[in-house]
Amino acid sequence: MIQFQRVAHLREYLQTGKSDKKVIGFVPTMGALHKGHVSLAERSNEVCDITVVSIFVNPKQFNDPEDLRKYPRPLASDLAMLTEAGVDVVFIPDVEDIYPPGENFTLDFNPGPLAETLEGEFRPGHFEGMAEVVYRLLTIVQPEKLFMGQKDFQQLAIVRKMITELQMPILLEMCPIIREPNGLAMSSRNERLSPEARSKAAIIYATLIESEILFEEGVPAVEIKAQAMKSLTNDVFSPEYFEIVDGVTLQPVNSFEDSQYVVALCAIRVEAIRLIDNAIWTRKE
Ligand code: AMP
Repeated sequence: MIQFQRVAHLREYLQTGKSDKKVIGFVPTMGALHKGHVSLAERSNEVCDITVVSIFVNPKQFNDPEDLRKYPRPLASDLAMLTEAGVDVVFIPDVEDIYPPGENFTLDFNPGPLAETLEGEFRPGHFEGMAEVVYRLLTIVQPEKLFMGQKDFQQLAIVRKMITELQMPILLEMCPIIREPNGLAMSSRNERLSPEARSKAAIIYATLIESEILFEEGVPAVEIKAQAMKSLTNDVFSPEYFEIVDGVTLQPVNSFEDSQYVVALCAIRVEAIRLIDNAIWTRKE
């Protein structure tokens, strides 16, 4: 695995690959890697010639300075995992490599209503910061394929809109959520949970599954949401939202009559950490 910090060095390396008609796959991450991240890299390895993984904790997408400060940065174990996964290139820029001082740049993309709902209500500015860093990374790496996790469904919806509107020649592939044995979606933030909260967090996935059954039975979405918010509330958990939406517009739906692509998304505060999860629901024939 080759490691780069400087944009110019990475580009020079990838240019050779491009001249040899190699297909470049890209997996942007913020590090503190787990099996979820690795699954994206493995998928890229499967269908691309060169897999590039970036590790960059993007300050612009943190609306909470404490969350940014506490974000784990276990670089040595990240590098070991990526080597083990057979990744070709890891790009670990500094903040100045991505945001050169004195540079004057504004991204000509507005995520619009997609960024105002769900996470957007609780993390002002988060998606604008995310879109900008993904745009900058895509411009640097210029991959043919981009791999992102369903785990961050709203993020992916916004990146998809950006790629389409800016006509970037990139195929975006959504990879499934990798979960811990108890159903908790893997996340770099899980490490900060107490063992008790981590075990109790099994309720999140269980609630998504129970809610899907109710939705299939035709129970009105408002009732399902209210019930889900209740089961996600206990001495350590406090849910921020549980919403049932169309997977493209992210606007609320009531039943499969409203949308064929239904997604339930939730965010829960646990021990000052936010956990997010979601499930795509399809009508069973
Ligand atoms: P992050 O490092 O949190 O920015 O995540 C980098 C990428 O990994 C994003 O595309 C995430 O959606 C994806 N990802 C994070 N957690 C998981 C998971 N449990 N399963 C699959 N993909 C994930």
